[in-house]
Amino acid sequence: MSETIFDKILSGEIPCHRVYEDEHVLAFLDIFPLSRGHLLVIPKERRAQLHELSDDAAAAIGRALPRLCRAVLAATGASAYNILQNNGSEAHQAVFHVHFHIIPRQGEAGLVIGWKPGQLANDEAEKLKSAIAGALEG
Ligand code: 5GP
Repeated sequence: MSETIFDKILSGEIPCHRVYEDEHVLAFLDIFPLSRGHLLVIPKERRAQLHELSDDAAAAIGRALPRLCRAVLAATGASAYNILQNNGSEAHQAVFHVHFHIIPRQGEAGLVIGWKPGQLANDEAEKLKSAIAGALEG
């Protein structure tokens, strides 16, 4: 995986507004926020996408996220927020180092979601369930 802007932030080559750091995780303000308090949470492990992350790095992110969400809510006064985690350019990923967005909702400011639900047919559900469960065992 090639170097990204987040590697430069991790190394200190590029500054960031850091709000939290531990052995495995760094959290800092997004420089182009969708709303006030928009935070990025990244593993120090260099992986482009979530499915490539080690269990240890994933666990460290999982431990930090709820605490960081509480802090964002307390600091901004927001009562609603979205967690966004993009993988792949077709899925709106621009920086190819795993990152979670914490995006507080403040009036109109926040994440805009285009949600177009379909219908899950039973036969398709059965096939999908088996395929995904089978892949988990592989
Ligand atoms: P993505 O679309 O990949 O999920 O989001 C990448 C995010 O990184 C964007 O929200 C963008 O504003 C943020 N970002 C890109 N470059 C920088 C930077 O140099 N510093 C900070 N703090 N955020 C950045």
